[in-house]
Amino acid sequence: MTGVPDPYAQRLRALRRKMEERELDGFLVSVPENRYYLSGFEAEDVQLTESSGLLVITGSRQVLVTDFRYEEEAKAEARGYETLIHREGLDQVLPDIFRTLAVRRLGVESHHLTHQLYVEIQDMLRSAQPDAVLVAEKGFVEEGRMIKELGEIERIRASIAVTEGVLHEVWASLRPGLREKDVAWAIERGIREAGAEAVSFPPIVASGPNGALPHAVPTSRAIREDDAVVLDLGSRLRLYCSDMTRTWLGPRVPEKMKEIYRIVREAQLAAMNAVRPGVDSLEVDRIARGIIEKAGYGDAFGHGLGHGVGLAVHERPGYGRKNHVILQENMVLTVEPGIYLPGLGGVRLENMVRVSETGCESLSRNEWFVL
Ligand code: ZN
Ligand code: ZN
Repeated sequence: MTGVPDPYAQRLRALRRKMEERELDGFLVSVPENRYYLSGFEAEDVQLTESSGLLVITGSRQVLVTDFRYEEEAKAEARGYETLIHREGLDQVLPDIFRTLAVRRLGVESHHLTHQLYVEIQDMLRSAQPDAVLVAEKGFVEEGRMIKELGEIERIRASIAVTEGVLHEVWASLRPGLREKDVAWAIERGIREAGAEAVSFPPIVASGPNGALPHAVPTSRAIREDDAVVLDLGSRLRLYCSDMTRTWLGPRVPEKMKEIYRIVREAQLAAMNAVRPGVDSLEVDRIARGIIEKAGYGDAFGHGLGHGVGLAVHERPGYGRKNHVILQENMVLTVEPGIYLPGLGGVRLENMVRVSETGCESLSRNEWFVL
């Protein structure tokens, strides 16, 4: 692979090994994070139906197909890729590429491609080679992204540092009377002012009964003395995401909320304690869930224990029945148990952790825990 710099060359090698296993002679990348991961091309997609570029990868060639708007950045960023520019649509260039590269079995990212684009690509492929087939692949590149390289971990640490710096400021200013929306805006502004390009998701500031909604949207409700307030925030810095949650307790918060706080913290610590290479993530989820169930709140913890974080804020691996994995060194995940009591409120605590050689390294600071 002449000309492709690391780490992209190394990632391409891993992809080509998988293509060989699956007997694919071509692979089409449409997921923006995967496109960046394999090529270094940083453009985002404005929306699902408006791609800023596709990668076509074969055993020996790698091509970035994009349109006129992205010509300059494509050439500067995707070094080692052939760049093909179209002005009026993919059908100007893709059939030719498929013909030239003699693609007969083309893998596509079926978990992301719209049905419309799938059909169009199929037509273009068949117009180039009548007997060629599309092969639906789910999470082919994402599998490789689960284990982070050292450079990626460094970027994740930097992203976490931005988030924690902002939480430090916001936490110090939290008091009854502030509105959820204003706190959320202080978080967003803080993250941008600290140099991150974006929030990794809209911050959650959920006070009192709103805290019972795991994905609450900040409202005009003013924080009260008897509230628990769930703060869930993250930054995206140099494309890598961070994600953390702490729960603030007001001076007159009911004993019940303190009780669930202690249970959630115990579940979080037990789960982090169980994280190490070779352990099934489902088992880690089971440990946290067991503590919450034993305390009588099993039904009040209705979501998974967490998720992988990297180029996407929610990515593999997961802890669920369908997406669990055997943990390996340098996977980066969140550990975020919660208890949600409708009408009363909720507590969630979220750390990001790295699976280390022998156990679990918390990437999040051991701070802003109140009990
Ligand atoms: Zn979160
Ligand atoms: Zn999370």
